Amino acid sequence: MTPDAILDRDVTELKAQLSFRARLSHRLSRHIPSAPLLPRLFGPMVSVTFDDVPDSACETGAALLDAHGVKGTFYVSRTLLGTATEHWRVAGVEALAEIHRRGHEIGCHTHDHRLVPTLDAKRFAADLQRNRDALASLVPGLVLENFAFPYGYASLAAKRVLSRTYGSGRSIMPGLNAGRIDHYFLRANPLFDRCLDAVLLARLMDEAVARNGWVIFFGHDVTEGASPYGCSPALLEATLLAANRRGIPVVSMAEGMARALGVAGERRPVEEASRLSG
Ligand SMILES: [Zn+2]
Repeated sequence: MTPDAILDRDVTELKAQLSFRARLSHRLSRHIPSAPLLPRLFGPMVSVTFDDVPDSACETGAALLDAHGVKGTFYVSRTLLGTATEHWRVAGVEALAEIHRRGHEIGCHTHDHRLVPTLDAKRFAADLQRNRDALASLVPGLVLENFAFPYGYASLAAKRVLSRTYGSGRSIMPGLNAGRIDHYFLRANPLFDRCLDAVLLARLMDEAVARNGWVIFFGHDVTEGASPYGCSPALLEATLLAANRRGIPVVSMAEGMARALGVAGERRPVEEASRLSG
C-alpha cells in the first residue's frame, strides 16, 4: 500500500466532513499552481520536517539534526501544544522556544489542526494569522513563514491566500520536487518506519542528485517503537547520512525556499545572530 493510501485511509472520517466541492478543490490544488512564475531549483536539497511536533521530535529529532549541523522545520498548531494525543505527547512552549533558539525553523499548521478545505479563504487567512500571532506571543521573535497542510489537504483558495502571506505550502504527496516547483503544494515523503526503507531512501536521494531535486520528508515522533506516523532515531540518522554521503545539503524549508528563489540565508541561531549584529 502506498503511503498516500495509508494516510488516506486514516483520514477517512475527516474526509467525510468535506463536501464534494471541497474534495474537488483539493484535487485541483494538486495540479493548478498558485503563482504565475514558479521558482526553479538549481541544485539538490533535502529537508526534514515534523508535523504537530511530538516532544520526541523536539528532543531526539532536533538533537540528531544538531549532531549533523543541519536545521529542520517543525510545523505547529497552537491548540495542540502541550496536549497528549493518541500517539504521542505534543511538545510544550519551552521545548519549541529551545529549538527555535538553536536555529531550527518553526512553521505554521492550522491553529486548531483543522482541515484546510473546510475553511473558505477568509476563515483560512484568519486562522493563519491567529496561529502566527499566538506563536509570536509565546516565543518572542518567532515569525511563522512556511505552512504545512494538516493531513495534506489543500484547496485552491488556500493556495491563493498562502501565496500572499507565506513562503510555501507543504503537502504529503510523495515524490521529488524538481524543475519548476509549485511551492504552495510541495511534495513530501513520509519519514515513517513502515514507509521508508533503504531502497526508497537511496532512490529518492539519487534522483535528487540526477535532477537537481528537493526531497522533503515529513514525520512526527522520533523514538524507538515509534507510532505508525513516526520513525526510529536510526531511520532519521540513515536519512541524514544518505544526504551527507551524496553531498546534498539538508536545509530548513525557509532556507530551501530562499535557495529556490535565489536569495541568501539561513536564519542563524538567536544568540549567534545577536552576537554578530551587536
Ligand atoms: Zn498535522
